[in-house]
Amino acid sequence: MTVRAGREFLAIPGPTTMPDEVLRAMHRPALDIYSKQMTDLTDGIMSDLAKLFATKGKTYTYISNGHGAWEAVLSNVLSRGDKLLVLESGRFAVGWGNAAELMGADVEVLKGDWRRAVRPHEVEERLRRDKEHKIKAVVVVQVDTASGAYNDIEAIGKAIKAAGHPALYMVDAVASLGCMPFEMDKWGIDVAMSGSQKGLMTPPGLGFVAANDRALEVHKTANMATPYWSWSEREGTEHYRKYAGTAPVHLLFALRQAIDLIHEEGLENVFRRHRLLAEAARRAVAAWSEGQVLGFNIAEATERSDTVTTVTMNNGHDPLALQRYCKEKCGVVLGTGIGDLQGQAFRIAHMGHVNAPMLLGTLGVIEVALNALKIPHGKGGLEAAVAYLGAEVEA
Ligand SMILES: *Cc1c(COP(=O)(O)O)cnc(C)c1O
Repeated sequence: MTVRAGREFLAIPGPTTMPDEVLRAMHRPALDIYSKQMTDLTDGIMSDLAKLFATKGKTYTYISNGHGAWEAVLSNVLSRGDKLLVLESGRFAVGWGNAAELMGADVEVLKGDWRRAVRPHEVEERLRRDKEHKIKAVVVVQVDTASGAYNDIEAIGKAIKAAGHPALYMVDAVASLGCMPFEMDKWGIDVAMSGSQKGLMTPPGLGFVAANDRALEVHKTANMATPYWSWSEREGTEHYRKYAGTAPVHLLFALRQAIDLIHEEGLENVFRRHRLLAEAARRAVAAWSEGQVLGFNIAEATERSDTVTTVTMNNGHDPLALQRYCKEKCGVVLGTGIGDLQGQAFRIAHMGHVNAPMLLGTLGVIEVALNALKIPHGKGGLEAAVAYLGAEVEA
């Protein structure tokens, strides 16, 4: 017996649930890529992306996933042998660093921990010790999608300033752009990158990069550049060059629609919705954790992301069994524990196209699974989430 008829619900942190409007936006013929319609579409998207990153800098759109956008950033501002400082808080900044190493950079990881966010004072201390300014760039993620950590990007930016260090500040906003506040210029970020398939509710396949004047200046002499990623190759008035070839027309239709939905709702409301739904999820996890099996991966409450919650499972309980039950019996797909947390955690995504019934339904299904599998847990998780939303979402 199952209760999973109907549409399966994807509660994984990317690719995320796409609104029907976004799916429908792609159901049409392509455009003449040399038409005014095409250039208007591109110009609108580029300027809206700059607003999402909150920058006066330039934006670039690649036909790639997040890994591609990482490579775009690195190849445009680094030269072979340049030192790169990676701020660890889980899997993704380290992954970005691994790419840099393969490309010929000298990579140093500022050791972090899967259970916590980056400590800004440790960044400042490391940069102060780099008296000869060997470090050319610092990379960090706003949200680590594996650990569930939220890094205070503004505070890290201030730490870099306080150290008086000229390294470029480069931030991965793949799991947070369009979900949580991001202020590229105000926070002193030189390069930011993201992707289409998480908070932006669009199919995987678009990578975004924003660069300020300082980064564009460094780019002029950087020697890792290759033609497809190169910012200078994408300049000029010829539209074709903006994508280094044929535009990903349908993905752009989808993205246009997704950004329109964000505008319709209002970015501030989008942020608030994410905050409220994330906190509702956390209320449930906090209640369940009283059973001594489930727990938050991120120890400090203020360091937990509003886009994904990583829940650990111990005492010999298998998160995969829970995930299997949720999917096969109830039609809810949870995120799996990855990297250091493989086999030890599951993830609840609450990013992008997510509302109260989706989130409460997901939490309810997890509670059904905890009961069915006889996994010890504190009672009243779903109730706590419901009570929280009832108190916070004013009538
Ligand atoms: C998903 C993700 C990436 C990688 O993006 P892909 O599209 O899977 O290549 C990078 N950084 C973060 C923070 C992510 O969540």
